Amino acid sequence: MHILVLPGDGIGPEIMSAAMQVLSALDTRRDLGLSITHDIVGFDSLAKYATTLRPDLIERLPSQDGIILGPVDTAAYPEHEGGINVSAYLRSRLDLYANIRPARTPPGAARPFDLVIVRELTEGFYADRNMAEGNADLMATPDVAISLRKVTRHACERIARRAFELAMTRDRRVTAVHKANVFKRGDGLFLDAVRTVAREFPEVTLDDVLVDAMAAWLVRAPERFDVIVTGNLYGDILSDLASELSGSLGLAGSIMAGDSLCAAQAQHGSAPDIAGQDKANPASMILSVALLLEWLGAHRARPDLTTAARAMTTALDHVLANPDTRTADLGGPLGTTAFGEAVTLAVLAG
Ligand code: NAD
Repeated sequence: MHILVLPGDGIGPEIMSAAMQVLSALDTRRDLGLSITHDIVGFDSLAKYATTLRPDLIERLPSQDGIILGPVDTAAYPEHEGGINVSAYLRSRLDLYANIRPARTPPGAARPFDLVIVRELTEGFYADRNMAEGNADLMATPDVAISLRKVTRHACERIARRAFELAMTRDRRVTAVHKANVFKRGDGLFLDAVRTVAREFPEVTLDDVLVDAMAAWLVRAPERFDVIVTGNLYGDILSDLASELSGSLGLAGSIMAGDSLCAAQAQHGSAPDIAGQDKANPASMILSVALLLEWLGAHRARPDLTTAARAMTTALDHVLANPDTRTADLGGPLGTTAFGEAVTLAVLAG
């Protein structure tokens, strides 16, 4: 099982180091036989190779079973001169189209909720992945910008299918989030595709909510939702909201899954405001790795990886349940390294 680790920028190396400590302990303890290799992307790569993502690394990506990618500081990359958006490249070129983003409160939360946002990743408003060549974020004149969105039935149906499949393993409820009252064609097509796929899953209840109302609903009653399926931009925004409501962006695990390859990448960015200070919560990265193991367990017929993923999540929950072993974003006293060590100990004890 070949896993490629790319720590990324900002807090990436710190949270990756903590997550790798946990994964190595799990690998040894359960004899998983993982073959883990490390490489660099982002600013480290830019300094060394004049590009944030080198061609020879790109060539190696499809032969991996899984990729573990840290956050990348894309906003600070040069627009030309080697500043490739690593996350966007992986999503579009490797067709990692399904972004699975759970938002679950830590054990003991006063108001528990547990939902998953299933977000389409390869089109929508993200203009850098909408064209065969060029970019759909255009300047018509120096004072007029035009951003075009792409919505295809194919992409809507496959993301809907992943959401319904996930709902079948949970509470069997899907909520489609859209803005079809205004975008009658773009979001209308999305909604129509979700309703079409819903017919394949008669055991699952489907409802739909406008994206603006959804922002209010997530604050008012997040426990109302089980699986939320939505487009690229709405999902990006709502998942940060949902994870922060669950306690912190630092809890926000996530995978980007295709049909044969999956990458773990936490929901949040490179957090330059706290980088290098041992303040970041690595729970998001650890949970992302657990989600990757779960995906590999299902897609590579490796039930031991599924069990290992659950053990990792249980160890994480065990540490998060105690306010004294939480990181600063959750009001706790631990730094990134100490939190990683605590989860590692819990994994070894499990
Ligand atoms: P951010 O997600 O990096 O940070 C937002 C806030 O959340 C900050 O206050 C940060 O300190 C906090 N935060 C994030 N992760 C945390 C963690 N694990 N523990 C504790 N606190 C955490 O958003 P930003 O500052 O707007 O973006 C920084 C850079 O990251 C930008 O270049 C942006 O383009 C990029 N970005 C990358 C990804 C990705 O790689 N998947 C996602 C979003 C943003």
